[in-house]
Amino acid sequence: MGLIHVLDDLVANQIAAGEVVERPAAAVKELMENAIDAGSKKIHIGTRDGGLTLIEVQDDGVGIEPEDVETAFLRHATSKLRELTDLTKMRSLGFRGEALPSIAAVSKVTVRTRTAHSEEGQLLHYEAGQLLERKFIGCSQGTRITVQDLFYNTPARLKFVRSLQTENTHIVDVVSRAAMARPDISFRLQIDDRVAIQTPGDGQLLSAFASIYGLSLAKSTFGLCIESPDYAIAGLLVAPEFARKSRNAMWFSVNGRPIRNIALGNAVLDGYYTLVPKGRFPVVALALSMTPTLVDVNVHPSKTEVRFSEERDICVLLTEAVKQSLKVASGSPVVQSLS
Ligand code: ADP
Ligand code: MG
Repeated sequence: MGLIHVLDDLVANQIAAGEVVERPAAAVKELMENAIDAGSKKIHIGTRDGGLTLIEVQDDGVGIEPEDVETAFLRHATSKLRELTDLTKMRSLGFRGEALPSIAAVSKVTVRTRTAHSEEGQLLHYEAGQLLERKFIGCSQGTRITVQDLFYNTPARLKFVRSLQTENTHIVDVVSRAAMARPDISFRLQIDDRVAIQTPGDGQLLSAFASIYGLSLAKSTFGLCIESPDYAIAGLLVAPEFARKSRNAMWFSVNGRPIRNIALGNAVLDGYYTLVPKGRFPVVALALSMTPTLVDVNVHPSKTEVRFSEERDICVLLTEAVKQSLKVASGSPVVQSLS
């Protein structure tokens, strides 16, 4: 008798969740990305107990059509891509169709959603991937997803969750990244009973930065803005004396997607040159824009690593721009004025 069989959906989704939902902050990130892709202007995120008992993300985006809600919870179900070639012109943050089924497989999820042209909203409740309830409700346009008891049915994963404080730090980190990558959206993060982040969504990177780092650091920034035929880089460089011991405060985004990239970080460091001592890293927030064909986002399930087809060129350009910006700015500490 044959020994090979196809895994059932729940097991397959729980395995995918191992990659997609590494920790509570990863679930926050995926839900926030969906809210951003839905064209939201305001996104409210709430968590309790490091995200383990509760994660809630509410948006004012397009909502999900009644006939699509159950499909959204199926593996590889997405509205964002049809062909592999679509990836090369990808503008959305999501495309793998894995987040909702993965999260739902390892928690209890309630979704409330309504589109502009539906009179009634929908509520669906899942536990361990099983749909247990579906009904009509009154709700405002947009989507609210509530995740309770994350990892309750995967005790092995629960064991790897660190202290609540560590998990909260990761949650603040992913929301900060998203907020700086999309200053046109207002983000509000409430951790337990405390508002940790509130950005205005006025489109100014400096205001988002000030909401996260405080006004005094924001006042010590220099502006950077360069354009070549293929790319544009714009953002903020904090004065070298505020350099930190970790790379974590070097923020980059590409086409509105927060990314981590050592090469870009090193290019910035080269630009600061001797202004920051060895082992220190300047605080920077830089937004890259380029045609999507020049960047591959399909490198890792978390989609925070990307590959640039012309990485060398971008880095050379960036280093030069940082040098120029710091030189030009050395007489004038504030480039844009804060109201
Ligand atoms: P992906 O984002 O890769 O498409 P997900 O599993 O995260 O996959 O979501 C599946 C689909 O559900 C999305 O393609 C989208 O159509 C829909 N969806 C999820 N969250 C939202 C939301 N907040 N607002 C509107 N649509 C959503
Ligand atoms: Mg998604």
